[in-house]
Amino acid sequence: MHEKGIYIGRYTMPKDREYYEIRNPADTRQIISKFPKLARDDVKAAISIAKDAFQKWSKTLPVERAKILYKTAEIIESRANDLARLLTMEEGKTLNDSVFEVVRTANLLRFYAGLITRAQGKVIPSQDKNTIILTTREPLGVIAVITPWNFPLSLPAWKVIPAIATGNTVVWKPASITPTIALELVKVFYEAGLPEGVLNLVTGPASEVGDELVTNKEIDAITFTGSLQTGKEINEKIGRQNRFIRIQLELGGKNATVLSKNGDADLAIELTVRSAFGLTGQACTATSRFLVPEEMHDEVLNKLVERTKKVVVGNGLKNGVDMGPLASREQYEKVLSYIEIGKNEGAKLVYGGQPIRGGEEFDYGYFVMPTIFDQVTSDMRIAKEEIFGPVLAVMTYRTLDEAIDIVNSTEYGLIAGIITKDISEAARFAENVKAGVIKVNKPTIGLEPWVPYGGVKSSGNDVYKEMGEEAIEFFTRIKATYIGY
Ligand code: ADP
Repeated sequence: MHEKGIYIGRYTMPKDREYYEIRNPADTRQIISKFPKLARDDVKAAISIAKDAFQKWSKTLPVERAKILYKTAEIIESRANDLARLLTMEEGKTLNDSVFEVVRTANLLRFYAGLITRAQGKVIPSQDKNTIILTTREPLGVIAVITPWNFPLSLPAWKVIPAIATGNTVVWKPASITPTIALELVKVFYEAGLPEGVLNLVTGPASEVGDELVTNKEIDAITFTGSLQTGKEINEKIGRQNRFIRIQLELGGKNATVLSKNGDADLAIELTVRSAFGLTGQACTATSRFLVPEEMHDEVLNKLVERTKKVVVGNGLKNGVDMGPLASREQYEKVLSYIEIGKNEGAKLVYGGQPIRGGEEFDYGYFVMPTIFDQVTSDMRIAKEEIFGPVLAVMTYRTLDEAIDIVNSTEYGLIAGIITKDISEAARFAENVKAGVIKVNKPTIGLEPWVPYGGVKSSGNDVYKEMGEEAIEFFTRIKATYIGY
């Protein structure tokens, strides 16, 4: 019995809907679960239930909501190992990375539980006597949450948690390939005492389920993370409705790590390998371009290749594995096609570049070798487009200004790293690189829940940040109240 249900108010397993299979990307013979392909009417029902639930939930006291969030964190931690295993089996990342995601989710829960019990408004002096002006923050209503598969637990968590913590209700559509871990998160919330209808989970094709969520007039705000192309589509659909709702779009990156001639080359290699091939390159914050000073190129490239040879690829459940499979056939084909594109446009393939085959371990999974291209230039597609896989482009530069220009030469602007011991160089880099997050002597991947996150240019619509205290701004509106006495 692999069939699983969804939450339209309560947990339901629709009888008259087709169920589709979720398979393990490390071994596609293994079925993880089956989920219903919902139709528009199911989504409408979920939205209407969320709207009803909003009446009561929005009036609960922050301390009551905080209590549920703390309890959810406790249950999640008590099941960390089971949740992490399931996450690895469904998405493919290593068990360590899955545990990290589970822990991050518990941290997010506690962070927002604490935050919403703190002061949220201001008192503003009036020009009139006997007058108090104060601002309060109100929830918006029903939030549509649409999420990708690469962080199938913690990424939805950093949207859902601040949404419900501030008194909104949610209809959430997880990515089609990772609904099982999504369902577990929703279940835990209800076990912790969340009232029925506050968090709803719908699965099925983006063309119906996703489309209904972004076009339904009862939705008060949309938060989306995914590809640039889908983000643009959603933005257009909302534009056409001609109504003013909030929309938060987080869309990809083409992040660079720059090794300065004043930096520690071994550290740069270590951090770049971790940021490029960790999570199989399937992170918005992955390093996909590595910029090296011309005069250091040969030495650094040799060391980089030697270090990459040590990356152990395999089933994420196995001990000692550093890099799991790609998450789906679609991803696998996309990555292989970009490797062909790289070869055709004249970049030099110096490591990897092919699927891993042979034996039980690899023949049934979407395994690709960590791949390094050298002699990559800014005009190449592999230097400009988000591949979302373990493919690293090595590029050279002469001066820091030139490096900054190369970093800024893509349409994305999510995150950028520099490895240097020179503080003024680090400051110049941070000031002139167009990105939402700058890392000095740190890997581009990995961001803590209390840090505001979000990119510039085509990496997002750049209006609201996610995570940190700043997330509260998206999920609430400010009201000013005058009180005369
Ligand atoms: P990926 O599937 O690679 O994560 P996408 O940007 O295609 O990236 O999808 C991100 C999320 O958006 C998924 O949950 C997907 O089902 C959903 N989605 C895709 N297309 C649409 C659409 N046109 N309208 C609403 N949601 C969509």
